[in-house]
Amino acid sequence: MQGLMQQWPLLCSKVIDHAATYHPLREVVSRSVEGPMHRTNYREVRARAMKLAQRLDREGIRLGDRVATMAWNTWRHLECWYGIVGIGAIYHTLNPRLFPEQIAWIMNDAEDRIIFADITFMPILEAIAPNVPSLEKIVVLTDAANLPETKLANVVAYEDWLAEADGDFAWKEFNENTAAGMCYTSGTTGNPKGVLYSHRSNLLHSMMAQQPDAMGLSSRDRVLPIVPLFHANGWGLAFSCPMAGAAMIMPGARMDGASVYEILTTEKVTFSAAVPTVWLMLLQHLEKVGGELPDLRKVVIGGSACPRAVTQKFQEVYGVQVIHAWGMTEMSPLGSLCTIKPEYQDLTGDALLDIEEKQGHPPFAVEMKVTDDENVERPWDGKTFGRLKVRGPAVASSYYKGTGAEAFDEDGWFDTGDVAHMDQHGYMQITDRAKDVIKSGGEWISTIDLENLAVGHPDVAEAAVIGLAHPKWDERPLMVIVRKEGRNVSREDILAYLDGKIAKWWMPDDVAFVDEIPHTATGKIQKMTLRDQFRDYRLP
Ligand code: ADP
Repeated sequence: MQGLMQQWPLLCSKVIDHAATYHPLREVVSRSVEGPMHRTNYREVRARAMKLAQRLDREGIRLGDRVATMAWNTWRHLECWYGIVGIGAIYHTLNPRLFPEQIAWIMNDAEDRIIFADITFMPILEAIAPNVPSLEKIVVLTDAANLPETKLANVVAYEDWLAEADGDFAWKEFNENTAAGMCYTSGTTGNPKGVLYSHRSNLLHSMMAQQPDAMGLSSRDRVLPIVPLFHANGWGLAFSCPMAGAAMIMPGARMDGASVYEILTTEKVTFSAAVPTVWLMLLQHLEKVGGELPDLRKVVIGGSACPRAVTQKFQEVYGVQVIHAWGMTEMSPLGSLCTIKPEYQDLTGDALLDIEEKQGHPPFAVEMKVTDDENVERPWDGKTFGRLKVRGPAVASSYYKGTGAEAFDEDGWFDTGDVAHMDQHGYMQITDRAKDVIKSGGEWISTIDLENLAVGHPDVAEAAVIGLAHPKWDERPLMVIVRKEGRNVSREDILAYLDGKIAKWWMPDDVAFVDEIPHTATGKIQKMTLRDQFRDYRLP
């Protein structure tokens, strides 16, 4: 017997309809790319997204067509997402920090027909547009007055193009499993792989993100999504904020410590989300100017492991709750969040920080397990590591065009490529990427643990650990360090600092100092490049 409830397709357009109807005047504030602050609200965003949908329809964009965006977080980018999904086309976010050849490769793979791009990115587009034959039009996210001169054909200013529509239009209706968005993983090995979100997965993911033990957003929040919309589905915030009726404060192109501090304070932001690097820059700035964060309630930190010192400083000095989170482009992207269950609620000080260093527990709709190479589950003892595997309705079932099929097994589990352990209460901790873990004498050394410890040293700005070939042990760790400006910490200081905090055999064989550690386009340490750089390095 079937249930007798309504079929209400889980379409992304329903989210902006909800926000525009029940939270119409909730603010969407942006630092525009042109400079000045811009203020609008959900009612207006929906009205302009509707015009955008109508205008795209007139361009001949149809169900399933890919429409690219290369843009900072602003109200216009948000309008693009909702306008695109409103007619069943697919928002395809491009990461401008990739090499131009990579961007062109990705655009050709996706066969993007139109691109919405910020003025900042015109030079990139001038370089790649001639190599993307599917691209018919470039809509520059500005008005005619600010449109840069360009030799490219088919370039229009967004505001003029949008003004050609009157908004007398309606969202299209289709099956909730229709593709809504597309994002390529940066592909540290091989070509980037396309992840294709559906309307249904986006909505389920947002509902899951709403849970109090996940992000716990409310209509009283003023959310600053610092994580760009072009990183891993913007961590879902473009859907979960309007769904919760929370105000959105969009930081535009500026994410340095001073700019983030300014917007946090002037806009009374209560909630924010970003990678650790952004928070490190903010904390350094706060220390320099003696700033405070009276309105900020919570920050979600993920994308790479959050250093313990960052969590401690936020919570103990500024009174801001840190939620350490783990996720992947393939997971829409939330996989786990470190909120405190009753089992741990009496912990304080270092014992609490030990838990908060973990990436947390999966919310409803994420299943998680850790296995050995033979797919046998490992015990939940908080130390036995293995391959981290996940499944759920907002987890990819395959990549676009079927590449990377080996990551998915017949029971629907996706092998994340991360190495992790689980504790008795279901808290997961990442110990490494499968390809970065150091195998020394048959045992594994977690490079992330060593890096996290090292950045706790007051003179260390950044640390990376890589395995170097060793005749006896296979591999041994080398720690690479960037000193804080004006500091002169030595190899011996670092090793003495680590002593007693780790097992003896985890102790790096050497410490090298560099001016800069290479990063990927999503801000992660580029271990492959670093390993190349130190290929001929001789351990003592
Ligand atoms: P990309 O690979 O394109 O940079 P992703 O956001 O999909 O983009 O990267 C996901 C990977 O980032 C995860 O598999 C994991 O290795 C790493 N990661 C994400 N969050 C954390 C975290 N909190 N701690 C450690 N690693 C993390």
